[in-house]
Amino acid sequence: MTDCLFCKIVAGEIPADVVLDREGVLAFRDINPQAPVHVLVIPKEHIQDATTIRPTHGGVLTEMIAAAGEIASAGDVDQSGYRLVFNVGPDAGQTVLHLHMHLLGGRPMAWPPG
Ligand code: AMP
Repeated sequence: MTDCLFCKIVAGEIPADVVLDREGVLAFRDINPQAPVHVLVIPKEHIQDATTIRPTHGGVLTEMIAAAGEIASAGDVDQSGYRLVFNVGPDAGQTVLHLHMHLLGGRPMAWPPG
């Protein structure tokens, strides 16, 4: 997608603090972190959001979850715990229309979320 912020990060047209780069997945630090560890894990291919996931996306979703586990270990939050979040739509606060999973860790988190 030519007009997608995260596609531009994947293409290297916009800089990002990349923490993991795999065949189908890129992970980079959130520009406005909400926790000591706040990383966005995205598919390199453009998928709009969780509502547009199809069975053919199974491989890349597995890759995203596996990447999150690696990032959590590297960030030393694998033992303390972390949260994986997909925001979908306005009430959830989704602002970027390219599927992304937030990995948040490094502090205790409330439940239910705000
Ligand atoms: P969401 O609100 O779930 O759509 O999350 C979008 C996230 O992208 C927000 O947490 C933003 O802070 C983050 N974000 C926006 N632009 C950038 C950027 N250029 N680099 C890194 N993170 C970004």
